[in-house]
Amino acid sequence: MAKHHFQTEVSQLLHLIIHSLYSHKEIFLRELVSNSSDALDKLKYLTLTDDQYKIIPFDPRIDITFDGEDHTTFTLSDSGIGMNDVELLDNLGTIAKSGTRNFLQQMTGDAKKDSSLIGQFGVGFYSCFMVADKVEVVSKKAGDVKAWKWISDGKGEFTITEAERAGNGTTVILYLNEEGKEYASRWQIENVVKKYSNHIPFPIFLEYAETDYDEGDKKKKKNEKKIEQINAASALWRKPKTELTEDDYNEFYKAIAHDTENPLHYIHTRAEGALEYNTLFYIPPKAPFDMYHADYKAGVKLYVKRVFITDDDKELMPVYLRFIKGIIDSEDLPLNVSREILQQNKVLLNIKSASVKKILGELKQISENNKEKYSSFIGEYNRALKEGLYSDFANKEALLELVRFKSTETESWTSFAEYKERMKDDQKAIYYITGEKEDTLRNSPLLEAYRSNNIEVLILDDEIDEIVIPGIGKYKDTELKSVNRSGAAEDLKTEKDKKLEKERKPLLERVKKALGDEVKDVVASARLNDSPSCIVADENDPTAQMQHLLKAMGQKEFPDVKPILEINLSHPIVEKLNAVEDEALTEEISFLLLQQAYLVEGAELKKPADFVKRLNSALLRSLG
Ligand code: ADP
Repeated sequence: MAKHHFQTEVSQLLHLIIHSLYSHKEIFLRELVSNSSDALDKLKYLTLTDDQYKIIPFDPRIDITFDGEDHTTFTLSDSGIGMNDVELLDNLGTIAKSGTRNFLQQMTGDAKKDSSLIGQFGVGFYSCFMVADKVEVVSKKAGDVKAWKWISDGKGEFTITEAERAGNGTTVILYLNEEGKEYASRWQIENVVKKYSNHIPFPIFLEYAETDYDEGDKKKKKNEKKIEQINAASALWRKPKTELTEDDYNEFYKAIAHDTENPLHYIHTRAEGALEYNTLFYIPPKAPFDMYHADYKAGVKLYVKRVFITDDDKELMPVYLRFIKGIIDSEDLPLNVSREILQQNKVLLNIKSASVKKILGELKQISENNKEKYSSFIGEYNRALKEGLYSDFANKEALLELVRFKSTETESWTSFAEYKERMKDDQKAIYYITGEKEDTLRNSPLLEAYRSNNIEVLILDDEIDEIVIPGIGKYKDTELKSVNRSGAAEDLKTEKDKKLEKERKPLLERVKKALGDEVKDVVASARLNDSPSCIVADENDPTAQMQHLLKAMGQKEFPDVKPILEINLSHPIVEKLNAVEDEALTEEISFLLLQQAYLVEGAELKKPADFVKRLNSALLRSLG
């Protein structure tokens, strides 16, 4: 007998599952059915495409039995692909996914959130230990002669021994604990299966004894076994919409997405004609936890003529729509399409591009007809849409209508279209400011003149904005301009500004000389009212935020990008500085103008001690 230890992460998970999900313990049944359904899918595919498997009789079914008298056991069995000893060891002892640690950190202690996370993460099998003290898994891999038995009490160890099993497939036997006893009941099992697994495409049979629910004088029927199919077992996505209710769609979502909440939206499409296919897509109410992990799980499954082909093909959706869950079922693909061929396949590419258009179109409709729903959507997926702006050139126009921004004019999200509607007649561009913190941006001196001229500025505080927005260029013929850059404020200059600038040229040159290598240029500013100075990036240089991002992304070689210092020529300090002749004093004030501009941007000073020294010297002088 071979004894094994669970991987540390498994033990941690088991502990978490048992302690945080007890109020959702019924999901153990959904998880077991889902594993069996996957195992049946895999074998179905092989028997249709692989000569070695074609000889194996395939009678796909899931069977559930229970001990109705003492309520001590619950057994679920499938005729699927099965597992050999090595697979039992790997699959039910370790967690292969690399995001485990991340996942464990995301557990909140809030049962509702955690249960949806757990399903998404796919640690479903271990949920058995919420209802059982001991679990036995007997499995025989299709084509093998030997069967194997895995046993564990979920306390850190498990054993694997040789066993007997009639045909291929897997049987899971739960030795129910106090909390699990209620699942040794016909009513409970039917209830949970209908709730979560009604539309898996294989039949689920329940075996029960008549006396388990017939009381009194019908006792004579004792031990008379009955077997009944308890799910609809239809591929829901192939049914006409008219035959389906909102509840049907919601249930199916919960089953395939392992979620406990209803989807935010579903999109069911049947295409007939040149290409024939059915698609059913869901938008989860919350962004999948692994959305920003490099090894995120693909959300869309591919079927061909209702045969499951793969759930591991990230090419079925563009990367930016990776949060979409659902199914593509094509009538036109051959069953044994290989992975490599799939990527190039014209049929699939067409289905994919039509699906993306459909999804984006549907989102447009929601944005127009259901503001509340759209705002939930934006809260979760705005960033994904922005990724799309960067990567999906073909749908740029549609995406431009869908993305939302914060703004100086509104409390809630706003769109480019709404901004354009509010624009003043003589306004030349759509202005935006980028940076790390919304609060810093809203109070940035860069916005002063825009505020006093009543010009709206979009507040872009997501780091992806720096990468995506400059590439957009225009929204419907209106140019997009970054307030962080030197060019944008040219639009604001009045004749008076230009005249003063000419007069103060010598002052600008003196400040530039005093600052030396610290700045690229010193120029007159048209955007400041209350502040004496601000820094901006030269038109083609990366902004401070961008540099930060590139460094974080691992770019080491960095040309030292210097800012442009803008000076408010009408500010009293600057007016007084104009009259100063002393060189040391000019230098001190020039540095203070530069350093305060950094500070107000929320940037770090290179030499804080140097700043404090100058500040103190200025304070001392002002005190006489
Ligand atoms: P997930 O199903 O998300 O991968 P589980 O912990 O539920 O996570 O299952 C781990 C793995 O064990 C599965 O990926 C599958 O390879 C295997 N497995 C579980 N149940 C069965 C089953 N009934 N038949 C065949 N393989 C199974």
